[in-house]
Amino acid sequence: MTTLSREHEEFRSVVREFAAAEIAPHIAAWDKKHYFPVEVVHKMGDLGLFGLTAPEEYGGAGADFTSLCVAIEEVGRVDQSLGITLEAAVGLGINPILTFGTPEQKGAWLPDLVAGRSLAAFGLTEPGAGSDAGATRTRAELRDGQWVVNGTKQFITNSGATITSVVAVTARTGTRDDGRPELSSILVPSGTPGFVVEPPYDKLGWHASDTHPLTFTDVTVPEGNLLGERGRGFSQFLATLDDGRIAIAALAVGCIQACLELSVQYAGERTTFGVPIGAKQGVAFQIADLVVMAEAARALTYHAAALKDAGAPASQLTRAAAVAKLYATESAVSATRVATQVFGGYGFMEEYPIARFYRDAKILEIGEGTSEVQRLLIARSLGLPVE
Ligand SMILES: Cc1cc2nc3c(=O)[nH]c(=O)nc-3n(C[C@H](O)[C@H](O)[C@H](O)COP(=O)(O)OP(=O)(O)OC[C@H]3O[C@@H](n4cnc5c(N)ncnc54)[C@H](O)[C@@H]3O)c2cc1C
Repeated sequence: MTTLSREHEEFRSVVREFAAAEIAPHIAAWDKKHYFPVEVVHKMGDLGLFGLTAPEEYGGAGADFTSLCVAIEEVGRVDQSLGITLEAAVGLGINPILTFGTPEQKGAWLPDLVAGRSLAAFGLTEPGAGSDAGATRTRAELRDGQWVVNGTKQFITNSGATITSVVAVTARTGTRDDGRPELSSILVPSGTPGFVVEPPYDKLGWHASDTHPLTFTDVTVPEGNLLGERGRGFSQFLATLDDGRIAIAALAVGCIQACLELSVQYAGERTTFGVPIGAKQGVAFQIADLVVMAEAARALTYHAAALKDAGAPASQLTRAAAVAKLYATESAVSATRVATQVFGGYGFMEEYPIARFYRDAKILEIGEGTSEVQRLLIARSLGLPVE
């Protein structure tokens, strides 16, 4: 079992109360309407969730990465859409600017992002480049001191909300000496001419989160909008995704915990053959397995978060993040299947949250690197020459 500090556990209680009061009563309706609740994003900002890991000079709390994982787990325990909104806003929006940005970029974007007044997105995936992110086709050309961006991105979280202020776009900015594409990241503010946010996707789950395709046609931004060093885009997004995977694992832990708690409650209330279904070993043993999943996934996730907080070397972090993400997300999918079964016919009905968790869980095995990509990273960490 993971033992977090007393401060982390006290913080967990604060987020748990917030999610119970501000998200739980409304989420079924938002999910049904595919409504992105900007007003709750602002409230999450007021609580300091977006600024947890940011320094105080930008309005953040200067807390550790473990605290962010606690917040994502607790929001995700109530709703996965709001959980991914927080995860992507910090892990994919704020962190790349914080880690790679210039003082000017940080000063321009971070105060509003940290306060939850605005959102930033990370545009890596394209129609021809997902797992194979190096196959990016979007181009950025330096012309007369300005970057001109052309291309398409897809499946980008938090990219088209009314409060989205900026998207970090990965693009080819040239060719390296070894003939491979030079990749860099460029900050493209919302509303820049030629930057079109296409209509939102009709998704299987995460209905209350914001996801869009994006197109860029001769989008022109100042040279100073280069994020980090030119040509370092590939290593930047690898580092960004390591952290993101730990955070996605935390989201999965929240999902497993929700399945566990909802199943225990239902198994105590629902009677068949004159006794609660929890009295039947066939049900109770399935719920016992949920405890194992929750505890093992939580242990792996907070172990990876602790490595991140301790400044562990990149290779160690990459492997721990991949292990945590792989186990926690595959367990979340299994946990939703078990919980749906415990609920019987009601597991298939939207009047209980289980159906929503069932729909929401699948993407955890895909976003920020599929399960296969995690296995690839783990196998490579063993020195296996796997392609
Ligand atoms: C709701 C949602 C939100 C998202 N948000 C963002 C975001 O904010 N920013 C962003 O940039 N992206 C985002 N993504 C994209 C996501 O990260 C990609 O979908 C994911 O990385 C997989 O890429 P792909 O869809 O191109 O699948 P592919 O890469 O086409 O993979 C298809 C299948 O092939 C398998 N496969 C591919 N290569 C290998 C290999 N070498 N070995 C074994 N199996 C392999 C995959 O595991 C998968 O099963 C989001 C996606 C969704 C659905």
